[in-house]
Amino acid sequence: MDEVTGAQLIAESLKTQKVEYMFGIVGVPVIEVAMAAQAAGIKYVGMRNEQAACYAASAIGYLTGRPGACLVVSGPGLIHALGGMANANMNCWPVVVIGGSSDQNQETAGAFQEFPQVEACRLYSKFSARPSSLEVIPSVVEKAVRTSMYGRPGACYVDIAGDMVNARVDRSKVRVVSCCPTPPVSLADHRAIAEAISVLKAAKRPLVIIGKGAAYGRAETALKELVEMSGLPFLPTPMGKGVLPDDHPKCVAAARSRALLQADVVLLLGARLNWILHFGLPPRFDPDVKIIQVDLCAEEIGNNVKPAVALLGDINAIVTQLLEGVRKDGWKYPSDTEWWSTLSDKIAANAKISKALALQSAVPMNYYTVFHHVSQLLPHDCIIVSEGANTMDIGRTMLNNYLPRHRLDAGTFGTMGVGLGFAIAAAALERSENKGQRIVCVEGDSAFGFSGMEVETMCRYNLPVVIIVVNNNGIYSGVDPDTWKTMAKMGDLTSIAPPVTLLPEARYDEVMTAFGGRGFLVRTVEELRSALQLSLSDWERPSLLNVLIDPSSDRKQQKVERKGDLNDPDSRSSKARPD
Ligand code: ADP
Ligand code: MG
Repeated sequence: MDEVTGAQLIAESLKTQKVEYMFGIVGVPVIEVAMAAQAAGIKYVGMRNEQAACYAASAIGYLTGRPGACLVVSGPGLIHALGGMANANMNCWPVVVIGGSSDQNQETAGAFQEFPQVEACRLYSKFSARPSSLEVIPSVVEKAVRTSMYGRPGACYVDIAGDMVNARVDRSKVRVVSCCPTPPVSLADHRAIAEAISVLKAAKRPLVIIGKGAAYGRAETALKELVEMSGLPFLPTPMGKGVLPDDHPKCVAAARSRALLQADVVLLLGARLNWILHFGLPPRFDPDVKIIQVDLCAEEIGNNVKPAVALLGDINAIVTQLLEGVRKDGWKYPSDTEWWSTLSDKIAANAKISKALALQSAVPMNYYTVFHHVSQLLPHDCIIVSEGANTMDIGRTMLNNYLPRHRLDAGTFGTMGVGLGFAIAAAALERSENKGQRIVCVEGDSAFGFSGMEVETMCRYNLPVVIIVVNNNGIYSGVDPDTWKTMAKMGDLTSIAPPVTLLPEARYDEVMTAFGGRGFLVRTVEELRSALQLSLSDWERPSLLNVLIDPSSDRKQQKVERKGDLNDPDSRSSKARPD
């Protein structure tokens, strides 16, 4: 008799479904699952917190189009992973979480780490189930992987009871399930395509918005042709950056507010009209704007704004359909319009303000100086991971992306703590694909703290990630060391220290050196440049640059073009997230 265990069946089924990476933390009852995964040829990365493990697994999903797996223990292990599942689901990224749970015969008896795991995951996933027997494990795993990728991508959960992990079954009794193919592609209705083209042609102030759905949908080649053939201005969302290069002549990111406010027709490609795009509503959009909405999720169509034309289907296929329509009569939006001059004027004016700030070399440095020098040194093909408030918002405008799926950030859910997990996933992929790409993780000091112990993971696997902590001693802002000392003398810090403060000049660089990586304490432009150059040339181990900036450094003051309020910063974040 050829017997297999539950652990082997889980591992082999994942491998059959072409799940190549597993991130997790082992313990009772899932150690055997991780070992079986390695035996089946899946790469296993042991992490330090299940949240970061789940972030990493979901980044694999976004970067490759097939989910990574996240392996967790029962109760608290699974609960920690819920943050990662929620984040993946909000981002529409595929991920499969495998959770061990208590033995079936102890359920309801107060077993070790007993928790209603399948129910708990339902709110954070598209599919949540426990195989009823060993024999059906391959079908349930296939369904989880397929569901995570088909339709709108998202998180799926498979539960495995502790007693099932080492239980055995005769292999001949187990259902053989083959690998589910990549999702079938659907096209938009050809009448709707014709309608969309006529709306575009009639536009006076057209704008293409490129979202992370376009990046996930690998629409870059068709989209480049569409933009170049039609001459339309485009604006990427944060993770839509790089689908077309940020320095493309048709990119109007530097005139974002004006482009959104004054556009009369928006071709919305794989982006939701949620908070990131100010809901598509006044005061940030024209109340009469015509939206041509492209999405594969029918339930998304019409959210917040009723579209003038709805194009339901796969973004790459639909962009190709639009391209055929435009190509037919060679239509092109002229480049000498008033719309183009109004956008170009704004781009030039904004560049001037940023440049003045960037060229300051006072110590402590400001955000603009830091990002100016970082952007000069980063290779064009590097993957930029970024989180924080000002760190992420200012970094997004100053650090260019030139390639699709090369930016990972706090995303739709605005989650802090994702950075290190994302970077580990990107670095693990880089290791097997060997494209020579650097992974650079730009973190606020608060954001870094949420998953900071993952530097040990990076050191353990020798993942050459470069972490830049933009350290302003706090959340949004901090205080300098002298002020902190004075405050400490004045009384109990828990009563008087501003809640936004963190330890001034904390030595995050020493966290990295503690595990054998390279750490740099950086105060000046010269130190920043030399530390970054050294780090980028070291392929053997991770580095961390602890860049001390002015704790009161802030965004440049901007007049926002919106009806009503002229002083609101043109920020997608407002101040909802820590730095
Ligand atoms: P952003 O954060 O860039 O605004 P969102 O995550 O809000 O992007 O929106 C991405 C949208 O793209 C989602 O509504 C999702 O359903 C959609 N989407 C994902 N993949 C595809 C695809 N292949 N084709 C069409 N739409 C897609
Ligand atoms: Mg900070």
